[in-house]
Amino acid sequence: MLDYDTKFYRMTRQRKIILTVLKNTQIHPTADWIYEKVKKKIPNISLGTVYRNLRILKETGKIRELNYGSSYSRFDGNCSNHYHFVCRDCGAVSDVDFAMDQDLNRQVEKCINAKVEYHRTEFYGKCSSCQNSLVL
Ligand code: ZN
Ligand code: MN
Repeated sequence: MLDYDTKFYRMTRQRKIILTVLKNTQIHPTADWIYEKVKKKIPNISLGTVYRNLRILKETGKIRELNYGSSYSRFDGNCSNHYHFVCRDCGAVSDVDFAMDQDLNRQVEKCINAKVEYHRTEFYGKCSSCQNSLVL
């Protein structure tokens, strides 16, 4: 496979640090969260630079942007297709360690006579810590 990144974009030190920060967290952070972390390593970096690098990392397939229709996006350093759970109380986004349902793709293919390549599904509800906080 052609390495799109090395062809069109130099992997800068800034971009490498942003990618490392994202690969080392499970919380699917916002750009602001990433900015705060990256600032510890590159004190003079701007939020705009972080946004620009996130966009390039996304376009080159190094990261994923999770947009849940809220005012801000969250980012995922894990590019493999996987399910997410979103807590409707605290907004936490977590990975669901559950095999992709390939049978669902086949069923949809039959239903609409198309070739399904993948599906994206989010599960919504109350995370375990939000459930526990109700028990006083
Ligand atoms: Zn929660
Ligand atoms: Mn994820």
